[in-house]
Amino acid sequence: MKLEKLKKEFPKLFDKNFYFECDNGWFELIKLVCVGMNNYKKNFKILKFVQIKEKFGLLRIYIKSEYNNINHNFDKNNLDNIQNFIYSIEEISSIVCEKCGQIKTDKRNVGIKIVHGWWKKTLCGKCHRRIQKCF
Ligand SMILES: [Zn+2]
Repeated sequence: MKLEKLKKEFPKLFDKNFYFECDNGWFELIKLVCVGMNNYKKNFKILKFVQIKEKFGLLRIYIKSEYNNINHNFDKNNLDNIQNFIYSIEEISSIVCEKCGQIKTDKRNVGIKIVHGWWKKTLCGKCHRRIQKCF
């Protein structure tokens, strides 16, 4: 994945036990979250990604945070803003092909037949056909 690029650009945003699993198509979405988190980072003692992965066909991003404890309401507002921003990006992933990044609404949460059942993915028609041929 292009993840290594992001780790180089934003080294302080990734927890040492960071877990990652998704395809390159969501790279730009993840990069947006990195930029957003980086802008807010100075307001926190800790603000890091713990997990970024695909779950039930959608991007899922988990963070951990610790307030600066200067002003509780201010800190809480900052965290709410980041969390809402992450939710929006996760929502957008439902119309972006996880493989190639193309914006497609016709194959939302499509079922991929795999060897032992089904796997939910968000894919464009082209990537869907390509992956389906592998099974
Ligand atoms: Zn695609």
